[in-house]
Amino acid sequence: MTRCKKCGEPINWIITRAGKKMPTNPGSVTICTPDGRVVSGFIPHWDTCPHADDFREQVNPNQRSQATNQLHLKI
Ligand SMILES: [Zn+2]
Repeated sequence: MTRCKKCGEPINWIITRAGKKMPTNPGSVTICTPDGRVVSGFIPHWDTCPHADDFREQVNPNQRSQATNQLHLKI
């Protein structure tokens, strides 16, 4: 197990379906989805990390494409 370089909390790396590494908090949790499915999984560390802004660019490709769109608008 490694620790977050930003806040020092222990993190557990998982591999997403897309083959990318994602930091999660150790220990699985069981949640109920809005449509009633019960699933177990991990809380992404960037959801609880006080330095989550540093993760955002890695985990949210939509934001990156928005930035790209804005770039095109400026041109
Ligand atoms: Zn952290």
